[in-house]
Amino acid sequence: MDHFLYQGGVLHCEDVPLPTIAEAVGTPVYVYSANTLRRHARAFRDGLAGIERKHLAYAIKANPNVAVLRVLADEGYGADVVSAGEMARALAAGIPAADIVFSGVGKTRKELSRALDAGIGQFNLELEEEGEVLAALAHARGLRAPAVLRVNPDVDAGTHAKISTGRKENKFGIPIDQAIEMYGRLAELDGLSLRGIAIHIGSQLLDLAPLEAAYERIGLLLADLRRFGHFVSRIDLGGGIGVPYRRSEAAPDLAAYGAMVERVTKDWDVELMFEPGRVIAGNAGVLMTEVVWVKPGPLNPYVIVDAAMNDLARPALYDAYHDFVAVRPNGARMTANIAGPVCETGDTFAMNREIDQVHSGDLAAFRTAGAYGASMASTYNSRALVPEVLVDGDRFVVVADRIEPETILAAERVPDWLKR
Ligand SMILES: *Cc1c(COP(=O)(O)O)cnc(C)c1O
Repeated sequence: MDHFLYQGGVLHCEDVPLPTIAEAVGTPVYVYSANTLRRHARAFRDGLAGIERKHLAYAIKANPNVAVLRVLADEGYGADVVSAGEMARALAAGIPAADIVFSGVGKTRKELSRALDAGIGQFNLELEEEGEVLAALAHARGLRAPAVLRVNPDVDAGTHAKISTGRKENKFGIPIDQAIEMYGRLAELDGLSLRGIAIHIGSQLLDLAPLEAAYERIGLLLADLRRFGHFVSRIDLGGGIGVPYRRSEAAPDLAAYGAMVERVTKDWDVELMFEPGRVIAGNAGVLMTEVVWVKPGPLNPYVIVDAAMNDLARPALYDAYHDFVAVRPNGARMTANIAGPVCETGDTFAMNREIDQVHSGDLAAFRTAGAYGASMASTYNSRALVPEVLVDGDRFVVVADRIEPETILAAERVPDWLKR
Protein backbone atom coordinates (compact mmCIF):
# COMPACT_ATOMS: atom_id res chain seq x y z
CA MET A 1 0.00 0.00 0.00
CA ASP A 2 1.37 3.40 -0.92
CA HIS A 3 0.35 7.01 -1.37
CA PHE A 4 0.83 7.25 -5.15
CA LEU A 5 -2.75 7.44 -6.42
CA TYR A 6 -4.63 9.03 -9.30
CA GLN A 7 -6.81 12.00 -8.42
CA GLY A 8 -8.75 13.61 -11.25
CA GLY A 9 -6.83 11.49 -13.76
CA VAL A 10 -3.43 12.73 -12.57
CA LEU A 11 -0.95 10.65 -10.59
CA HIS A 12 -0.29 12.25 -7.21
CA CYS A 13 2.22 11.64 -4.49
CA GLU A 14 0.09 12.16 -1.40
CA ASP A 15 -1.62 15.53 -2.09
CA VAL A 16 0.89 16.77 -4.65
CA PRO A 17 0.23 16.26 -8.38
CA LEU A 18 3.38 14.83 -9.95
CA PRO A 19 3.30 17.39 -12.82
CA THR A 20 3.77 20.13 -10.20
CA ILE A 21 7.03 18.48 -9.15
CA ALA A 22 8.14 17.95 -12.75
CA GLU A 23 7.55 21.63 -13.44
CA ALA A 24 9.50 22.75 -10.39
CA VAL A 25 12.39 20.28 -10.49
CA GLY A 26 12.49 18.80 -13.98
CA THR A 27 12.90 15.16 -14.87
CA PRO A 28 14.13 12.54 -14.23
CA VAL A 29 13.46 12.86 -10.51
CA TYR A 30 12.84 10.50 -7.63
CA VAL A 31 9.74 11.34 -5.61
CA TYR A 32 9.31 9.87 -2.13
CA SER A 33 6.23 9.79 0.05
CA ALA A 34 6.97 10.47 3.73
CA ASN A 35 3.65 8.99 4.78
CA THR A 36 4.34 5.77 2.89
CA LEU A 37 7.69 5.50 4.68
CA ARG A 38 5.89 6.03 7.99
CA ARG A 39 3.19 3.52 7.09
CA HIS A 40 5.74 0.82 6.27
CA ALA A 41 7.85 1.62 9.31
CA ARG A 42 4.78 1.19 11.51
CA ALA A 43 3.53 -1.92 9.70
CA PHE A 44 6.90 -3.59 10.18
CA ARG A 45 6.96 -2.69 13.85
CA ASP A 46 3.32 -3.72 14.34
CA GLY A 47 4.05 -7.10 12.74
CA LEU A 48 6.60 -7.66 15.47
CA ALA A 49 4.37 -6.39 18.28
CA GLY A 50 4.62 -9.77 20.01
CA ILE A 51 8.41 -9.49 20.29
CA GLU A 52 9.22 -7.69 23.50
CA ARG A 53 12.94 -7.02 23.21
CA LYS A 54 13.78 -5.80 19.73
CA HIS A 55 15.89 -3.26 17.88
CA LEU A 56 14.88 -2.03 14.45
CA ALA A 57 17.75 -0.82 12.29
CA TYR A 58 16.73 0.48 8.87
CA ALA A 59 19.21 -0.75 6.24
CA ILE A 60 20.37 2.58 4.91
CA LYS A 61 21.70 1.32 1.61
CA ALA A 62 18.13 0.88 0.35
CA ASN A 63 17.62 4.64 0.44
CA PRO A 64 20.17 6.73 2.32
CA ASN A 65 18.75 10.18 1.66
CA VAL A 66 19.18 12.16 4.86
CA ALA A 67 15.56 13.37 4.84
CA VAL A 68 14.34 9.79 4.45
CA LEU A 69 16.56 8.82 7.37
CA ARG A 70 15.09 11.64 9.45
CA VAL A 71 11.54 10.40 8.79
CA LEU A 72 12.57 6.90 9.90
CA ALA A 73 14.56 8.17 12.88
CA ASP A 74 11.39 9.95 13.99
CA GLU A 75 9.67 6.55 13.78
CA GLY A 76 12.23 5.23 16.25
CA TYR A 77 14.40 3.37 13.78
CA GLY A 78 18.12 2.93 14.19
CA ALA A 79 20.32 2.24 11.20
CA ASP A 80 22.21 -0.61 9.61
CA VAL A 81 25.19 0.86 7.75
CA VAL A 82 27.76 -0.75 5.48
CA SER A 83 30.31 2.06 5.11
CA ALA A 84 31.68 5.07 6.96
CA GLY A 85 29.77 7.21 4.48
CA GLU A 86 26.49 5.60 5.49
CA MET A 87 27.44 5.96 9.15
CA ALA A 88 27.98 9.69 8.62
CA ARG A 89 24.53 9.95 7.02
CA ALA A 90 22.87 8.12 9.90
CA LEU A 91 24.55 10.42 12.42
CA ALA A 92 23.69 13.50 10.32
CA ALA A 93 20.04 12.41 10.37
CA GLY A 94 20.13 12.39 14.17
CA ILE A 95 20.16 8.62 14.69
CA PRO A 96 21.98 7.97 17.98
CA ALA A 97 25.33 6.20 17.51
CA ALA A 98 24.21 3.51 19.94
CA ASP A 99 21.36 2.59 17.58
CA ILE A 100 23.67 2.05 14.60
CA VAL A 101 24.77 -1.40 13.45
CA PHE A 102 27.86 -1.59 11.23
CA SER A 103 27.59 -4.46 8.73
CA GLY A 104 29.62 -5.21 5.63
CA VAL A 105 32.19 -7.70 4.42
CA GLY A 106 34.95 -5.16 3.74
CA LYS A 107 35.02 -2.72 6.62
CA THR A 108 38.46 -1.11 6.50
CA ARG A 109 40.61 -0.47 9.56
CA LYS A 110 39.94 3.22 9.06
CA GLU A 111 36.19 2.62 9.03
CA LEU A 112 36.37 0.43 12.14
CA SER A 113 38.34 3.16 13.91
CA ARG A 114 35.88 5.87 12.90
CA ALA A 115 32.96 3.76 14.04
CA LEU A 116 34.64 3.06 17.39
CA ASP A 117 35.29 6.76 17.87
CA ALA A 118 31.66 7.51 17.02
CA GLY A 119 30.53 4.95 19.61
CA ILE A 120 28.31 2.91 17.35
CA GLY A 121 26.16 0.24 18.97
CA GLN A 122 27.16 -2.96 17.20
CA PHE A 123 29.74 -4.31 14.78
CA ASN A 124 28.63 -7.30 12.72
CA LEU A 125 31.85 -9.25 12.18
CA GLU A 126 32.36 -11.08 8.91
CA LEU A 127 35.60 -12.94 9.63
CA GLU A 128 37.79 -13.82 12.60
CA GLU A 129 40.63 -11.49 11.61
CA GLU A 130 38.24 -8.56 11.50
CA GLY A 131 37.28 -9.36 15.10
CA GLU A 132 40.93 -9.46 16.13
CA VAL A 133 41.69 -6.13 14.44
CA LEU A 134 38.58 -4.51 15.92
CA ALA A 135 39.48 -5.84 19.38
CA ALA A 136 42.98 -4.37 19.10
CA LEU A 137 41.69 -0.99 17.91
CA ALA A 138 39.15 -0.91 20.74
CA HIS A 139 41.66 -2.05 23.35
CA ALA A 140 44.03 0.73 22.34
CA ARG A 141 41.21 3.17 23.06
CA GLY A 142 40.35 1.55 26.38
CA LEU A 143 37.07 0.27 24.90
CA ARG A 144 35.31 -3.01 24.34
CA ALA A 145 33.65 -3.06 20.95
CA PRO A 146 30.11 -4.44 21.03
CA ALA A 147 29.99 -7.10 18.34
CA VAL A 148 28.12 -10.05 16.93
CA LEU A 149 29.37 -12.68 14.51
CA ARG A 150 27.69 -12.91 11.11
CA VAL A 151 27.08 -16.51 10.23
CA ASN A 152 26.39 -17.90 6.79
CA PRO A 153 23.60 -20.44 7.34
CA ASP A 154 23.90 -21.97 3.85
CA VAL A 155 20.28 -21.41 2.94
CA ASP A 156 19.06 -20.63 -0.57
CA ALA A 157 16.97 -17.47 -0.29
CA GLY A 158 15.23 -18.25 -3.58
CA THR A 159 15.84 -14.74 -4.89
CA HIS A 160 17.98 -13.34 -7.72
CA ALA A 161 21.53 -14.75 -7.57
CA LYS A 162 23.06 -11.26 -7.34
CA ILE A 163 21.12 -10.48 -4.15
CA SER A 164 21.46 -13.90 -2.50
CA THR A 165 23.86 -13.73 0.42
CA GLY A 166 23.23 -16.83 2.54
CA ARG A 167 24.70 -19.66 0.45
CA LYS A 168 28.03 -21.03 1.61
CA GLU A 169 29.70 -19.99 -1.67
CA ASN A 170 28.64 -16.35 -1.11
CA LYS A 171 31.21 -13.94 0.31
CA PHE A 172 29.18 -13.15 3.43
CA GLY A 173 29.50 -14.41 6.98
CA ILE A 174 31.48 -17.27 8.45
CA PRO A 175 30.57 -20.90 7.78
CA ILE A 176 28.03 -22.01 10.34
CA ASP A 177 30.02 -25.15 11.18
CA GLN A 178 32.96 -22.98 12.32
CA ALA A 179 30.82 -20.62 14.37
CA ILE A 180 31.10 -22.21 17.81
CA GLU A 181 34.89 -22.39 17.90
CA MET A 182 35.36 -18.95 16.40
CA TYR A 183 32.82 -17.49 18.81
CA GLY A 184 34.81 -18.97 21.69
CA ARG A 185 38.08 -17.49 20.48
CA LEU A 186 36.63 -14.03 19.80
CA ALA A 187 34.77 -13.95 23.11
CA GLU A 188 38.16 -14.21 24.88
CA LEU A 189 39.51 -11.00 23.34
CA ASP A 190 39.87 -8.06 25.71
CA GLY A 191 38.73 -5.39 23.28
CA LEU A 192 35.58 -7.19 22.22
CA SER A 193 32.22 -7.61 23.88
CA LEU A 194 30.79 -10.47 21.84
CA ARG A 195 27.05 -10.62 22.27
CA GLY A 196 25.58 -12.84 19.61
CA ILE A 197 25.00 -13.88 16.06
CA ALA A 198 23.79 -12.11 12.90
CA ILE A 199 22.46 -13.42 9.62
CA HIS A 200 21.15 -11.88 6.41
CA ILE A 201 20.40 -14.36 3.67
CA GLY A 202 19.38 -12.11 0.79
CA SER A 203 17.03 -9.47 -0.48
CA GLN A 204 13.62 -9.32 -2.17
CA LEU A 205 12.41 -12.55 -0.51
CA LEU A 206 8.81 -13.23 -1.46
CA ASP A 207 8.56 -16.42 0.55
CA LEU A 208 9.07 -16.75 4.29
CA ALA A 209 10.25 -20.38 4.11
CA PRO A 210 13.97 -19.64 3.49
CA LEU A 211 13.97 -17.09 6.31
CA GLU A 212 12.33 -19.57 8.62
CA ALA A 213 14.87 -22.25 7.66
CA ALA A 214 17.73 -19.84 8.36
CA TYR A 215 16.25 -18.75 11.70
CA GLU A 216 15.80 -22.41 12.70
CA ARG A 217 19.48 -23.03 12.02
CA ILE A 218 20.42 -20.02 14.10
CA GLY A 219 18.22 -21.34 16.90
CA LEU A 220 20.19 -24.60 16.92
CA LEU A 221 23.46 -22.66 16.88
CA LEU A 222 22.25 -20.51 19.77
CA ALA A 223 21.46 -23.61 21.84
CA ASP A 224 24.89 -25.06 21.03
CA LEU A 225 26.67 -21.83 21.96
CA ARG A 226 24.93 -21.76 25.31
CA ARG A 227 25.67 -25.44 25.89
CA PHE A 228 29.34 -24.53 25.51
CA GLY A 229 28.86 -21.80 28.10
CA HIS A 230 28.99 -18.82 25.76
CA PHE A 231 27.16 -15.58 26.52
CA VAL A 232 24.57 -14.69 23.87
CA SER A 233 22.19 -11.77 24.39
CA ARG A 234 21.42 -10.64 20.82
CA ILE A 235 20.44 -12.28 17.59
CA ASP A 236 20.35 -10.09 14.48
CA LEU A 237 17.91 -11.56 11.95
CA GLY A 238 18.89 -9.20 9.12
CA GLY A 239 16.51 -7.91 6.46
CA GLY A 240 15.35 -9.29 3.15
CA ILE A 241 11.56 -9.07 3.12
CA GLY A 242 10.46 -8.42 -0.45
CA VAL A 243 7.93 -6.00 -1.92
CA PRO A 244 5.52 -6.52 -4.82
CA TYR A 245 6.99 -5.04 -8.00
CA ARG A 246 4.25 -6.55 -10.16
CA ARG A 247 0.58 -6.27 -9.39
CA SER A 248 0.39 -10.07 -9.60
CA GLU A 249 3.12 -10.52 -6.99
CA ALA A 250 2.29 -11.16 -3.36
CA ALA A 251 4.86 -10.00 -0.83
CA PRO A 252 5.09 -11.55 2.62
CA ASP A 253 2.49 -10.31 5.02
CA LEU A 254 4.25 -8.56 7.89
CA ALA A 255 1.89 -10.03 10.48
CA ALA A 256 2.70 -13.51 9.11
CA TYR A 257 6.40 -12.67 9.27
CA GLY A 258 6.02 -11.52 12.87
CA ALA A 259 4.10 -14.67 13.78
CA MET A 260 6.82 -16.82 12.21
CA VAL A 261 9.55 -14.95 14.09
CA GLU A 262 7.64 -15.31 17.33
CA ARG A 263 7.15 -19.04 16.80
CA VAL A 264 10.76 -19.78 15.90
CA THR A 265 12.35 -17.56 18.53
CA LYS A 266 10.01 -18.07 21.48
CA ASP A 267 12.61 -19.81 23.68
CA TRP A 268 15.61 -17.80 22.60
CA ASP A 269 15.66 -15.29 25.48
CA VAL A 270 17.62 -12.64 23.54
CA GLU A 271 17.11 -9.17 22.13
CA LEU A 272 16.16 -9.58 18.47
CA MET A 273 17.52 -7.17 15.89
CA PHE A 274 16.00 -6.50 12.47
CA GLU A 275 17.48 -4.72 9.45
CA PRO A 276 14.66 -4.04 7.01
CA GLY A 277 15.51 -1.96 3.95
CA ARG A 278 13.44 -2.56 0.84
CA VAL A 279 10.22 -3.33 2.73
CA ILE A 280 10.36 0.15 4.28
CA ALA A 281 11.42 2.23 1.28
CA GLY A 282 10.54 0.26 -1.86
CA ASN A 283 6.96 1.34 -2.36
CA ALA A 284 7.62 4.79 -0.95
CA GLY A 285 9.17 6.16 -4.12
CA VAL A 286 8.74 6.52 -7.87
CA LEU A 287 11.14 7.65 -10.56
CA MET A 288 9.35 10.24 -12.66
CA THR A 289 10.52 10.61 -16.22
CA GLU A 290 9.52 12.34 -19.45
CA VAL A 291 9.04 10.54 -22.73
CA VAL A 292 11.63 11.95 -25.15
CA TRP A 293 10.66 10.03 -28.27
CA VAL A 294 8.45 7.20 -29.35
CA LYS A 295 10.72 5.51 -31.87
CA PRO A 296 9.31 2.96 -34.30
CA GLY A 297 10.80 -0.53 -33.87
CA PRO A 298 10.61 -3.71 -35.93
CA LEU A 299 8.09 -5.32 -33.60
CA ASN A 300 7.01 -2.66 -31.12
CA PRO A 301 7.89 0.99 -30.72
CA TYR A 302 10.63 2.04 -28.33
CA VAL A 303 9.45 4.52 -25.72
CA ILE A 304 12.66 6.44 -25.07
CA VAL A 305 12.46 8.16 -21.69
CA ASP A 306 14.80 10.69 -20.10
CA ALA A 307 15.60 8.34 -17.19
CA ALA A 308 18.24 5.69 -17.78
CA MET A 309 20.11 2.79 -16.25
CA ASN A 310 22.37 5.24 -14.42
CA ASP A 311 19.33 6.61 -12.57
CA LEU A 312 17.62 3.26 -11.93
CA ALA A 313 20.04 0.36 -12.28
CA ARG A 314 17.90 -2.53 -11.10
CA PRO A 315 16.52 -3.61 -14.49
CA ALA A 316 20.04 -3.64 -16.00
CA LEU A 317 21.59 -5.29 -12.92
CA TYR A 318 18.96 -7.83 -11.94
CA ASP A 319 16.50 -7.91 -14.86
CA ALA A 320 14.18 -6.28 -12.35
CA TYR A 321 10.63 -5.34 -13.21
CA HIS A 322 9.32 -1.83 -12.46
CA ASP A 323 5.75 -0.95 -13.26
CA PHE A 324 5.59 1.95 -15.76
CA VAL A 325 2.55 4.21 -15.73
CA ALA A 326 1.55 7.45 -17.40
CA VAL A 327 1.16 10.39 -15.04
CA ARG A 328 -1.92 11.48 -17.03
CA PRO A 329 -3.19 8.28 -18.69
CA ASN A 330 -5.47 8.87 -21.68
CA GLY A 331 -7.20 5.50 -21.30
CA ALA A 332 -5.55 3.89 -24.32
CA ARG A 333 -2.91 1.17 -24.10
CA MET A 334 0.06 0.26 -26.26
CA THR A 335 2.64 -2.50 -26.42
CA ALA A 336 6.14 -1.07 -26.34
CA ASN A 337 9.73 -1.40 -25.26
CA ILE A 338 10.88 1.15 -22.70
CA ALA A 339 14.47 2.35 -22.84
CA GLY A 340 16.70 5.17 -21.70
CA PRO A 341 19.18 7.30 -23.66
CA VAL A 342 22.36 5.56 -22.43
CA CYS A 343 24.50 3.91 -25.09
CA GLU A 344 24.04 0.33 -23.89
CA THR A 345 21.46 -2.20 -24.94
CA GLY A 346 21.22 -2.99 -21.22
CA ASP A 347 19.66 0.44 -20.77
CA THR A 348 16.26 -1.10 -21.39
CA PHE A 349 13.60 -1.05 -18.71
CA ALA A 350 11.11 -3.37 -20.40
CA MET A 351 10.49 -5.25 -23.65
CA ASN A 352 7.12 -5.97 -25.26
CA ARG A 353 5.27 -4.55 -22.28
CA GLU A 354 1.66 -3.45 -22.37
CA ILE A 355 1.61 0.06 -20.92
CA ASP A 356 -0.45 3.23 -20.87
CA GLN A 357 -0.26 4.90 -24.24
CA VAL A 358 2.32 7.69 -24.12
CA HIS A 359 3.58 10.28 -26.55
CA SER A 360 6.68 12.40 -26.75
CA GLY A 361 6.58 14.99 -23.95
CA ASP A 362 4.34 12.94 -21.62
CA LEU A 363 5.27 12.34 -18.01
CA ALA A 364 5.47 8.79 -16.73
CA ALA A 365 6.64 7.03 -13.60
CA PHE A 366 8.50 3.85 -12.71
CA ARG A 367 6.85 2.61 -9.57
CA THR A 368 8.36 0.92 -6.52
CA ALA A 369 11.61 2.80 -7.02
CA GLY A 370 12.10 4.02 -3.45
CA ALA A 371 14.68 1.34 -2.59
CA TYR A 372 17.92 0.63 -4.44
CA GLY A 373 17.00 3.39 -6.88
CA ALA A 374 18.71 6.71 -6.20
CA SER A 375 21.14 4.92 -3.89
CA MET A 376 22.58 3.07 -6.89
CA ALA A 377 22.55 6.03 -9.29
CA SER A 378 25.68 7.01 -11.16
CA THR A 379 26.63 9.64 -13.71
CA TYR A 380 27.43 7.20 -16.52
CA ASN A 381 27.37 8.84 -19.96
CA SER A 382 28.10 12.11 -18.12
CA ARG A 383 24.50 12.44 -17.14
CA ALA A 384 23.38 14.44 -14.14
CA LEU A 385 23.06 12.71 -10.78
CA VAL A 386 19.31 12.35 -10.37
CA PRO A 387 17.60 14.64 -7.82
CA GLU A 388 15.24 13.52 -5.06
CA VAL A 389 12.06 15.11 -3.74
CA LEU A 390 10.24 14.30 -0.50
CA VAL A 391 6.49 14.82 -0.31
CA ASP A 392 4.73 15.07 3.04
CA GLY A 393 1.01 15.75 2.72
CA ASP A 394 0.65 18.80 0.48
CA ARG A 395 4.26 19.91 0.93
CA PHE A 396 7.28 18.91 -1.11
CA VAL A 397 10.92 19.83 -1.07
CA VAL A 398 14.01 18.90 -3.06
CA VAL A 399 15.96 16.74 -0.61
CA ALA A 400 18.84 16.03 -2.99
CA ASP A 401 19.87 18.43 -5.74
CA ARG A 402 20.43 17.39 -9.29
CA ILE A 403 24.23 17.29 -9.59
CA GLU A 404 24.94 18.66 -13.03
CA PRO A 405 27.68 17.26 -15.26
CA GLU A 406 29.43 20.66 -15.02
CA THR A 407 29.84 20.19 -11.25
CA ILE A 408 31.41 16.81 -11.78
CA LEU A 409 33.61 18.14 -14.58
CA ALA A 410 34.78 20.89 -12.22
CA ALA A 411 36.26 18.21 -9.91
CA GLU A 412 38.46 16.88 -12.72
CA ARG A 413 41.70 18.39 -13.97
CA VAL A 414 44.17 18.11 -16.81
CA PRO A 415 47.79 17.61 -15.62
CA ASP A 416 50.13 20.57 -16.17
CA TRP A 417 52.22 18.64 -18.66
CA LEU A 418 49.20 18.09 -20.87
CA LYS A 419 48.02 21.66 -20.77
CA ARG A 420 47.80 23.66 -23.91
C1 LIG B 1 21.15 -5.09 2.36
C2 LIG B 1 21.11 -5.56 3.75
C3 LIG B 1 19.93 -5.48 4.49
C4 LIG B 1 18.64 -4.97 3.92
O1 LIG B 1 18.10 -5.84 2.97
P1 LIG B 1 16.63 -5.59 2.41
O2 LIG B 1 16.43 -6.72 1.48
O3 LIG B 1 16.62 -4.29 1.73
O4 LIG B 1 15.70 -5.65 3.57
C5 LIG B 1 19.97 -5.87 5.81
N1 LIG B 1 21.11 -6.34 6.38
C6 LIG B 1 22.26 -6.44 5.69
C7 LIG B 1 23.48 -6.94 6.37
C8 LIG B 1 22.30 -6.06 4.36
O5 LIG B 1 23.43 -6.18 3.67
